[in-house]
Amino acid sequence: MKERIIEGIPVQVVRKRIRSMNLSVHPPEGTVRLSVPLRTPNQVIDRFVLEHIHWIRVQQAKIRMAYPQHQYTSGEHVYSFGTPLELLVQETGKRGSVQRTGDVLILSAPKDSTPEQRKAWIEGWQRAQLHEQAEYLLTKWADCIGVEVREWHIKRMRTKWGTCNYTAHRIWLSLALAEKPLPCIEYVVVHELCHLLEASHNARFWACVERYLPDWRERKQRLNEPVR
Ligand SMILES: [Zn+2]
Repeated sequence: MKERIIEGIPVQVVRKRIRSMNLSVHPPEGTVRLSVPLRTPNQVIDRFVLEHIHWIRVQQAKIRMAYPQHQYTSGEHVYSFGTPLELLVQETGKRGSVQRTGDVLILSAPKDSTPEQRKAWIEGWQRAQLHEQAEYLLTKWADCIGVEVREWHIKRMRTKWGTCNYTAHRIWLSLALAEKPLPCIEYVVVHELCHLLEASHNARFWACVERYLPDWRERKQRLNEPVR
């Protein structure tokens, strides 16, 4: 994957064995992705993006409305497994700490902390929450499907909810899942575990997902709807 900056917009260009170009804009950051046939010249790519620049800007504006940027101040909402929690920022102490009480998420943070620092503390809390749930779901479903996960991690991903390395038996889950309802996280877990049996999205793969989660379509749809 190569990134090209066109009219100030970073575009992730992926060369694939396909016949025509495919342009998409992804939440939460409005990342632009363009899949192109293997030998497409850069001039052709640039021209295609320029022809669609208005469309890209409209999509990015829609995503910004659906995914407002947080300042991490009191009264904002932070989602945890689909539940909105009201953020309460207490300016105390030297280090940030996060604690949930009912539907309130209390962030204790130093008076001069920046939105970036507050974001990092809250993400740290979300990561720990997701880790706990994912560990439970991965153990339960790996056992049920009869596959072995050698390694799994959580990281920030721009365009995917999860990935699976078939040969290394390694699974990555997106940190953004921490905001999603548990049935959606369960779908991603089962999806990635079925990849340990079948690397590609072929009929056998989807039969595996269907067998363990007959309602996977609804879960998948809900996963891709904005939570906020
Ligand atoms: Zn997949």
